[in-house]
Amino acid sequence: MTAMSTAAQTTTDEQREMIRQSAADFARTHIFPHVMDWDERQHFPRELFHQMGEYGFMGVLVPEQYGGTGLSYAEYITVIDEIAQVCGSIGLSVAAHNSLCTNHILQFGSEAQKNKYLPALASGEHLGAWGLTEPNTGSDAGRMRTVAERQEDGGYILNGAKNFITHGISAEVAVVIARTGELLDSHGMTAFIVERGDEGFRGGKKEDKLGMRASETAEIIFENCYLPADRILGEVGEGFIQSMKILDGGRISIAALSLGIAKGAMKAALAYSQEREQFGKAISRFQSIAFKLSDMATEIEASELLTRNAGRLKDAGLPMTRESAMAKLFASETCVRVANDTVQIFGGYGFTKEYPAEKYYRDCKLCTIGEGTSEIQRLVISRELLKK
Ligand SMILES: Cc1cc2nc3c(=O)[nH]c(=O)nc-3n(C[C@H](O)[C@H](O)[C@H](O)COP(=O)(O)OP(=O)(O)OC[C@H]3O[C@@H](n4cnc5c(N)ncnc54)[C@H](O)[C@@H]3O)c2cc1C
Repeated sequence: MTAMSTAAQTTTDEQREMIRQSAADFARTHIFPHVMDWDERQHFPRELFHQMGEYGFMGVLVPEQYGGTGLSYAEYITVIDEIAQVCGSIGLSVAAHNSLCTNHILQFGSEAQKNKYLPALASGEHLGAWGLTEPNTGSDAGRMRTVAERQEDGGYILNGAKNFITHGISAEVAVVIARTGELLDSHGMTAFIVERGDEGFRGGKKEDKLGMRASETAEIIFENCYLPADRILGEVGEGFIQSMKILDGGRISIAALSLGIAKGAMKAALAYSQEREQFGKAISRFQSIAFKLSDMATEIEASELLTRNAGRLKDAGLPMTRESAMAKLFASETCVRVANDTVQIFGGYGFTKEYPAEKYYRDCKLCTIGEGTSEIQRLVISRELLKK
């Protein structure tokens, strides 16, 4: 029924515009009216994701043969950008579902696993989670303590906990990385598919957050959780290496999320600066305000170029570790600066919940932390620059 599902693998400019329009209309109609209510109550609107599935937003990168929309990163960036302009939380959830859980199964799953899991994920019937981070190991994920012990039948028993997991409580399907070998051995970790209802697997504490409050963030806990051998994702021992590849693509998502938040904040600042008068004229006519807008627009444009460049390389199957880290670093730092200046342009009103500035200011900060902090992006970029 949707604009998204009519677009073929190779999209024309007209189809791209249709996809943009479809995401923008959806966000305006189904998300915008509830943004502040969801934020205040920290309500995760699970039902919305069924609707987004109908529009094709839950399986943007999944080929049509597995029930997805079968589009490229170019369109995916557009969808995340448009949704995040209206609500960062929903943008974050769509990004985590598509580029982490769903994409991990798409890239490394067997044919049987793809057929089993992807159609329900792409339709929004199932929500996906992806668990790498643990309470003591965030940036240093390779030291994870969640352990998977091999059983005689080839299955594994998992014990441990992951935290800060998007959709940790509500997800029907989770991809989880656990230790199957020695500590600090990059081949000592394996990815598994876990289903809600698996004995010994449960969601834990939901975080009460500064921003992105309508996106569910929670612990997941494994207590003697038995998984049969057909839940192993890819090869045993390859889980960490797979995760690094998944994060390369995930960083394009967070760059797109940052781009959307920055654009949403800037639109609000631009409008307000032309309405609000002080000293007998619109505040946009003060050079210090106008120049803030100039800097915002310039940095947003640069963020978009970096993000789309990383997406183009990913679509072409070319290496893009450096480029996706650059896009994520620059776009996320830009959105923090833009949101900060937006609050400044709104003055005292920017500090109140009557205007959207404060929410952009709270939401944007996640972008410099999730899927690798800015410091870790610099580490990734410098390693790429310095390697032979
Ligand atoms: C809302 C939200 C959603 C999330 N969703 C998910 C999810 O779905 N799945 C998942 O697996 N994780 C998720 N995360 C976790 C996120 O990826 C981690 O929070 C992030 O990777 C940072 O890890 P940490 O919080 O443990 O910080 P730490 O690693 O403890 O870092 C603390 C500080 O030290 C700095 N630092 C650490 N190491 C270095 C270094 N080598 N050099 C320089 N500085 C360094 C960091 O940059 C940071 O400033 C989510 C987090 C949040 C807040």
